[in-house]
Formats: sequence, structure tokens, C-alpha cells
Amino acid sequence: MKVTKAEIVISAVSEKQYPDGNLPEIALAGRSNVGKSSFINKLINRKSLARTSSKPGKTQTLNFYLINDAFHFVDVPGYGYAKVSKREREKWGKMMEEYFTKRTNLKLAVLVVDIRHKPTNDDVMMYDFFKYYEMKVLVIATKLDKIPKNKKQQHLQQVINTLELDKNDTIIPFSAETGEGKDAAWNFLQQYL
Ligand code: GDP
Repeated sequence: MKVTKAEIVISAVSEKQYPDGNLPEIALAGRSNVGKSSFINKLINRKSLARTSSKPGKTQTLNFYLINDAFHFVDVPGYGYAKVSKREREKWGKMMEEYFTKRTNLKLAVLVVDIRHKPTNDDVMMYDFFKYYEMKVLVIATKLDKIPKNKKQQHLQQVINTLELDKNDTIIPFSAETGEGKDAAWNFLQQYL
């Protein structure tokens, strides 16, 4: 897809703030620093449209990015939540549950993980969260440029095994540095748009 237009439309915390209309939405999640913003920015050919993800404790919002006036990427807030208060965690849970149970525009969830490492408990929790809401999931295994080429399969397998990836879900190795995986990611996303 050739992206000619990309803009943030709203940072929402509740349903009444979601954009009107029935454009399809793709939710994106990932731990802080995993490379989620770089993934979005690479896909839409921007340097810094997507903010680098928020630190735990900072206000957590669903950030809607309108792409080509055709669909929304929805950046869902970080889930490295061990350090925040119970109240913050509950707020996060409520906001996410509301979005994932009610939003009919939502077509696909993308989980960004680091291909170098075994997915963390937080990664597994997020994947399980998506599956609980019966979402189809695309896993982006990013930072591919940081591992030797001949280790790629082994690292992918580690991600698949640790997440217990559903056979109907898809994993794509990706690098925001080299652009590898970008076409594969777009081809995959296209079926939901
Ligand atoms: P976010 O917090 O998940 O949004 O992560 P960012 O996109 O801000 O990336 C965190 C750091 O990882 C930044 O220094 C990026 O430049 C770097 N990074 C992200 N993706 C890649 C990648 O594919 N390859 C390499 N080598 N570095 C990456």
C-alpha cells in the first residue's frame, strides 16, 4: 500500500471518543521499546508520526491514526504493568476490555515482539488477551537485522513456541532498519482493509 496520508485523529480513553464511521481498525500492541512505533512509522513511511510508547504511569490512551482516509491503526497502551498501581492497572483493563468487546470496526490485532528474545510474560499475557477476545493476531517479530541470518528460523520458532501461537495466526519477521518484512506485513494487513 502506498501511504499518502497519515494523521493522529484522537487519543481516546472511552467509547464515546472513538472516531465515528465504520472504517476498519487494526490494533497494535507491544512492550515499551520493542519497536512498535518504528514498525508503524516504517509501514507508513514517516519518521515520527507514531510517538514512542508511553512510560508506565503516564496517561494510557488508545491512539487512533487515520491512514489514507481508509482505515485506522490503533496504538494500544503498553502493558509492562508490574510497576504501576492497582488503580492504573484496573483503568487499563477497563479501557481495553471496553474497546475489545464493543468495537465492531476492529478487524485484527498486531503484537510486536523482539525476535532476539524469548517473549516475556507480558508478551504472552497480551497474546492471550487477544485470543480471549477471539481476535485474529499478526505477530511482528522485529529487530530482525540484529540476529544472524542463519538463526532466523530458530528465533521465530522460539516466539511461536513461547506464545503457543494459534495455527490460524501469522508471524512475520521484520526490521524497521532494513525494511525487511514490510511488503509481507502490508500484504497481510490488506486482507482486513
Ligand atoms: P516502542 O517503544 O515500542 O515504540 O519502540 P521504538 O520504535 O521507539 O524503538 C525502540 C528502539 O529500538 C529505538 O532506539 C529504535 O531505533 C530501535 N528499533 C526499533 N525497531 C528496530 C529494528 O527493526 N532494528 C533495529 N536495529 N533497531 C530498532
